Amino acid sequence: MTPQELEYYRRILAQHLAEVEAYLESSKEAAAAVEPDKSLGRLSRMEAMQDQQLVMEMRRRKKRQLVEIKTALSRIEMDDYGNCIFCGKEISGDRLEVFPESQTCVRCT
Ligand SMILES: [Zn+2]
Repeated sequence: MTPQELEYYRRILAQHLAEVEAYLESSKEAAAAVEPDKSLGRLSRMEAMQDQQLVMEMRRRKKRQLVEIKTALSRIEMDDYGNCIFCGKEISGDRLEVFPESQTCVRCT
C-alpha cells in the first residue's frame, strides 16, 4: 500500500472514530437506567425501557467498532494496514472502501 493510500484510509478512520465517539457520548443518557420513580405511566415506562435496550445494543456495536477502528489506526502506524490478519493477503480496495476497519479479507471473514 502506498503512503498516499495509507493516508487516505487514516483520514477516513479518524473521521469514523470521531463519529463513533460522538455517538457514544451523546447516547450516554439514553442508555442510563430508566428510573422507577419517573412520573411515567406503566406503558410509557415499558416503552422507555425498550428504547433503552435498543440504545444499549447500538452502543455495544459502536464500542466494538471503536476497538476495530483503533486497531486499524495502530496498524497504519506500524505500516501493517490492509493485510488480512488470517491469511496475510492484501484486503481488496473495494472492501476497505466500505469497511476501512476490516482486518480480514473476504475469504477469511
Ligand atoms: Zn484472508
